[in-house]
Amino acid sequence: MNVGSSTVVTLEYVLEVEGEEIEATQEGEPVSFLYGHGHLLPRGLEVAVHSLPSGAFEKSLRPEEGYGPYDPERVSTADRGDFPPDAGLEPGSEFYAQEASGSPVAVRVTSVEGDRVTVDANPRLAGKTLEYRGVIHRVREATPEELDHGHAHGEGGCHH
Ligand code: ZN
Repeated sequence: MNVGSSTVVTLEYVLEVEGEEIEATQEGEPVSFLYGHGHLLPRGLEVAVHSLPSGAFEKSLRPEEGYGPYDPERVSTADRGDFPPDAGLEPGSEFYAQEASGSPVAVRVTSVEGDRVTVDANPRLAGKTLEYRGVIHRVREATPEELDHGHAHGEGGCHH
């Protein structure tokens, strides 16, 4: 069976970007996901393992297949006074802001110069090539109960 919608995937993986480890499961501790149901998997990983059988895998995703191209227009500069007083305005800090459309967007501070704060609303991995590798231990069909709950169950059913 191959990874696809409504399967439960048990895997270990490492994500590297530009030679740096970004995410990884604990060595020897595979995780199980219900595939294709919302945001249970990081977006890139969901693309990387789609339609794979169990076994070792290695997959490189172009930015367009992962978190999209880097958009310079999503970088903006604002006055310190435009932020809540308790916002940690230091390079690297992250918070949610509101887009013009009203939907929340995660932004991070890239620089602070005097009263001017530059924030970037691109996903952290936008514009990056994602290098995934790992081992798919098992792929099985999701049970009706798992589909109903929208997540994978471990041995012995639902524990929440
Ligand atoms: Zn459940």
